[in-house]
Amino acid sequence: MKFKDKIVIVTGAGRGIGQEIARAFAAEGARVALISRSEASCLAAAAEINESHPGSATAFPVDVSDHDAVQTLAKRIGEELGAVNILVNNAGITRDGLLMRMRENDWDTVLDTNLKGAFNTVKAFMRPLMKGENSSIINIASVIGLIGNAGQTNYSASKAGLIGFTKAVARELAARSVTCNAIAPGFITTDMTDQLPEAVRQSVIDKIPFARFGTPADIAQTVLFLASPAAQYITGQVIAVDGGMTM
Ligand code: NDP
Repeated sequence: MKFKDKIVIVTGAGRGIGQEIARAFAAEGARVALISRSEASCLAAAAEINESHPGSATAFPVDVSDHDAVQTLAKRIGEELGAVNILVNNAGITRDGLLMRMRENDWDTVLDTNLKGAFNTVKAFMRPLMKGENSSIINIASVIGLIGNAGQTNYSASKAGLIGFTKAVARELAARSVTCNAIAPGFITTDMTDQLPEAVRQSVIDKIPFARFGTPADIAQTVLFLASPAAQYITGQVIAVDGGMTM
């Protein structure tokens, strides 16, 4: 029970990587607030975790790109769960297309969710995190924020921005013993990558030394390490969890 009674916020926890992160913390004794946009998937994800770890998960359906809604949520979580120890910014979306054809709305929606969403949550939960001992913020970026990708200018910019944000927050909060790190996943098996056509999937696998996609558990275990006492002197870093793709 490495995280017994710690309060953990995980955004984008309705499925995929976020739900696995929430499940992994619950298995280690944490009390987890799951945030995602759709009420149905948020409630279902929390209920599933509570089946194996009763009372560990609470659903808070909120759109992280909505600044005021996130502020209100932070107050509610403070009242219902108490001081927050760990914040994981995982909510993210894609709206792919070549730049020539990309609509303004595709750019704005991706930046608002993937980058402004993290600004909103860090701003809202900053005070409770600073009050705790050795709190951590972990932002789920992407290897695409490091190397770029044709058809993903919006997504690449949002994830590169998230990495810059991570480093600046790390510098601002180090004096309060709050660490802030980013994880850059490679290609992980979730709904997001299930949409890839087989030819694209194979061409990606050809570039991965491990010759396979990663799993949500690969990311969740790295998050738990970064949130653990073993990582309390690590801050402002980006850890690629990508089967060697970007080494
Ligand atoms: P999924 O599409 O499977 O799940 C995304 C989750 O984020 C859903 O629960 C979704 O909720 C939630 N979400 C989306 N927009 C918002 C919002 N505005 N407010 C609150 N919640 C929101 O994604 P993955 O699990 O694959 O990805 C998780 C993170 O990892 C993302 O940041 C992604 O960019 C990153 N990543 C993923 C990779 C991969 O290969 N899968 C590779 C590199 C990075 P809802 O269902 O309600 O919309």
